[in-house]
Amino acid sequence: MPVPASRFADPPILVVTDVAARLVRRGLLTPADAAGGWRSARVIVFRSGPVVCDPPPGTRGIETGCVDLFRGRSYVSAAPMTLALYNTLTRRVEPFAPLAPPRVTLYTCGPTVWNYAHIGNFRTFLFEDLLRRYLAYSGYDVFHIMNLTDVDDRTIKAAAAAGKRLEEHTAPFVEAFFEDRDYLRITPAHAYPRATQSVPAMVRLVERLLERGVAYKGEDGSIYFAIAKFPTYGRLSRLDTRELKVGARVASDEYAKDDPRDFALWKKAEPADEQVGAAWDAPFGRGRPGWHLECSAMSLEQIGKCCRTETLDVHAGGVDLIFPHHEDEIAQSEAATGKPFARFWLHGEFLNVRGTKMSKRFGNFLTARDLRDQGVDAAAVRLLFWQTHYRKALDFTDEALAAAAAGVRRLGEFYERVKREPGNGKREGRLTELAAKFEIEFRAALDDDLNAPRACAALFELVHEGNAALDAKARGAAVARGALDRAMAVLDVLPTAKTADTELEGWIGARIAARDKARKSKDFKEADRIRAELAGRGVEIEDTPSGTKWRLV
Ligand code: AMP
Ligand code: ZN
Repeated sequence: MPVPASRFADPPILVVTDVAARLVRRGLLTPADAAGGWRSARVIVFRSGPVVCDPPPGTRGIETGCVDLFRGRSYVSAAPMTLALYNTLTRRVEPFAPLAPPRVTLYTCGPTVWNYAHIGNFRTFLFEDLLRRYLAYSGYDVFHIMNLTDVDDRTIKAAAAAGKRLEEHTAPFVEAFFEDRDYLRITPAHAYPRATQSVPAMVRLVERLLERGVAYKGEDGSIYFAIAKFPTYGRLSRLDTRELKVGARVASDEYAKDDPRDFALWKKAEPADEQVGAAWDAPFGRGRPGWHLECSAMSLEQIGKCCRTETLDVHAGGVDLIFPHHEDEIAQSEAATGKPFARFWLHGEFLNVRGTKMSKRFGNFLTARDLRDQGVDAAAVRLLFWQTHYRKALDFTDEALAAAAAGVRRLGEFYERVKREPGNGKREGRLTELAAKFEIEFRAALDDDLNAPRACAALFELVHEGNAALDAKARGAAVARGALDRAMAVLDVLPTAKTADTELEGWIGARIAARDKARKSKDFKEADRIRAELAGRGVEIEDTPSGTKWRLV
């Protein structure tokens, strides 16, 4: 794959895998030898992970593949170690570097809790989970903030329709969101600020913008942001602001694409807002925050508290948020602080149904709880999403989900096999080689703008070749298991362990005893019949030297 020139503005680096790194640390191998042919490389031990080397002067581009250093027993690889991410702001894949390493501040726009989130929303939240986990895997210390939009046009309308106060209407959906998050194995954020609980920060931000002369009070009593006063407005969405109609205003939270207008920061309280309890006093008039303002205020407040900064390392969301939501967030935040708001902007593509965006509005949606109630393993949903790059649209079908579920089962079987392998303490052998090769490919793929489909391809190659190696009684299963465990910390796609209740456990025990008896009296027909009977209730058995083992599949 051609590499964008921008990606290697800095010299490339050389990665030496764990095996050689350990030898370097123990003084058994010189750094230069670990670097293979790159003898003049300067080697840096990178935390507990691999050894990273600066390349010899004049070397450019990516070197991939394995150098067989110890007569086939260990590997040294040269692969790009820099995580590179596509930044919507520059429309380029750029090497990622946070402002104050190893800390990374990450803000992701959370759900609007007017209803249950659908799996389209969760495609975005899962892409953010992949990003979060891979940053951690890469050695960064991530501080992740996800807001909960519990006051905006939609929540107010839904609360009014249900005849409830805002808080009463949104609370169950907040709970449901956390349940769905846990079902889908999404790592919880470090902070979940709620808009209704962050109003003082929003009021302060509006005051700051009024003081700076970039906000004004409209004749309708609402406060607007004057985009003509912010010359870089439109930079993220590449909007042509020459079309701007001076003074044209919009009060709605979501407005037409490519429509540069002054937008509401603070909306004057209407009777409908008062009715559901969605109005607050402020020096510039009673009202409620605009959706865009909420995210600026909550992110600035959180990163100020946690990390004493006014610039986020990464801000992410779905592509539909680029305009107006993120464009307006940049305008509000930067006009107030005078500093860049976020250095990397990442956007995930849609989950579609027959080519149309999954959306409550179109009625073509499924919720996470729908899938859970159908008994779908969350690992299958994760794998399905990983198999398409986050910047490509994905069409949801039952067939694709079933195929992902089959993949998850295959991976689970391989993992169980590797775990059970006798003599798996041995560190050398074909499986060691396969595991080393896999980890190199896994890292190279995810370093390349989170190319999860490529990482999954490498994973299933390991399953395929690893099964063949195990058939041939190869050694090194413990090393393969270590590699799988590290990869699962990112992808997390092993099958969910099924559990049996005591009644089922008792029945299984009795059937296995009956089968043992049949086998002892050489009635293999009866033994096979019992095996099939167990399989019929989802019980897989295996005869081992220490007796018959079973598990639910
Ligand atoms: P909302 O709850 O509507 O504020 O949306 C929460 C997140 O879901 C936002 O980041 C949206 O960009 C994202 N989103 C909405 N619909 C889809 C979809 N069909 N596919 C992927 N992401 C979506
Ligand atoms: Zn937001």
